[in-house]
Amino acid sequence: MQIEKKPNFKGIENALKISPEAVIDKIKLSKLTGRGGACFPTGKKWEIASANQGEKFFIINADESEPGNFKDQYILKNNPDLIIEGLLIGCHTVNAKKGFIYIRDEYKDLIKNLQDSVNKYIKKYPQFDIEIILGAGAYVCGEETAIIESIEGFPGIPRMKPPYPGEKGFQGKPTVINNAETIAMIPLIMNNEFNPELRLFSLSGNVKKPGVYEFPLGIKLKEIMEKAEPEGKIKSIFMGASGGCLKYDPEIKVTQEAFREKNVCLGSRGIIVINENQSLIRMLKYITEFFIHESCGKCTPCREGNARILELIEKSIEKGLTKEEHERLNDLANYIKECSFCGLGMSSTTALLNILKEFKEEIKCLK
Ligand code: SF4
Repeated sequence: MQIEKKPNFKGIENALKISPEAVIDKIKLSKLTGRGGACFPTGKKWEIASANQGEKFFIINADESEPGNFKDQYILKNNPDLIIEGLLIGCHTVNAKKGFIYIRDEYKDLIKNLQDSVNKYIKKYPQFDIEIILGAGAYVCGEETAIIESIEGFPGIPRMKPPYPGEKGFQGKPTVINNAETIAMIPLIMNNEFNPELRLFSLSGNVKKPGVYEFPLGIKLKEIMEKAEPEGKIKSIFMGASGGCLKYDPEIKVTQEAFREKNVCLGSRGIIVINENQSLIRMLKYITEFFIHESCGKCTPCREGNARILELIEKSIEKGLTKEEHERLNDLANYIKECSFCGLGMSSTTALLNILKEFKEEIKCLK
């Protein structure tokens, strides 16, 4: 896997030999886009922050915590040097005063690995300042303005955008925020070892071989399933909790575009395989409970709407829904998607909407 290549200081040395503008050009040419789900071009993001004058900051989001997603934890465990070296290149390129790595406090072993790597790099490059920030375990802190609030010492609640962090981020200064997998690609780019087609996938659910795999975008879904060895006949896949539920189609190509046509988001590529023995409505109950637990409470659609959805899901499991309740479930799901303040709420009903459309029989209704 390309993610296992050890950087051995080669990436940072190559970056220090050329101008920051040349580093940005190289990243733009590489076509690297954000690996946390948003897919924003990384070179462009660095260029925006770079164009701003004065004090700047760099943040790595290593706070992976969505059900079915564990690929960042794989990098943190097996090759943290790629992340640290990428962060130093980032700080050098945008002229950031300090770099932060935001990670969940529960990941004790990974934090130790990361700190060892930070110490090794700071010993060699004392001009950089890197700090590991321990998050209290809130999924919403994956949202870039919530992560900034948390690092500033406030509750992790998203801010209004614009202004975007590239213009006004940590302490009101321009700030670049990159996902852990994205920043790990930077040393590979500087060493001309980067393959832009490859992506990490987390595979779990009804499979004999769960784990982290690397596949090229455009691979057929059945080829991914062959590697993971499904248990039983596959009914559907969930893309984590937020990406939606796709009716299993062995021939579909795994690309953003092909999945978007089915109203499913590839996101950060956490595939949960569901076989025909599993109930999708019970999976939905679990997902809705997750979003209720993780909602920061700032806006009504997400805070109240998902609680009402859970009541309807429980009623469907226990007794069945009336026609009017079924309609309300659909209306609520659309309302939460359209009217929530941040991506957490907007994506919380994607799977429900997919199931209402593609698996009508899973939602029990009264005659
Ligand atoms: S959608 Fe609203 S309540 Fe939900 S996490 Fe975002 S800001 Fe908070």
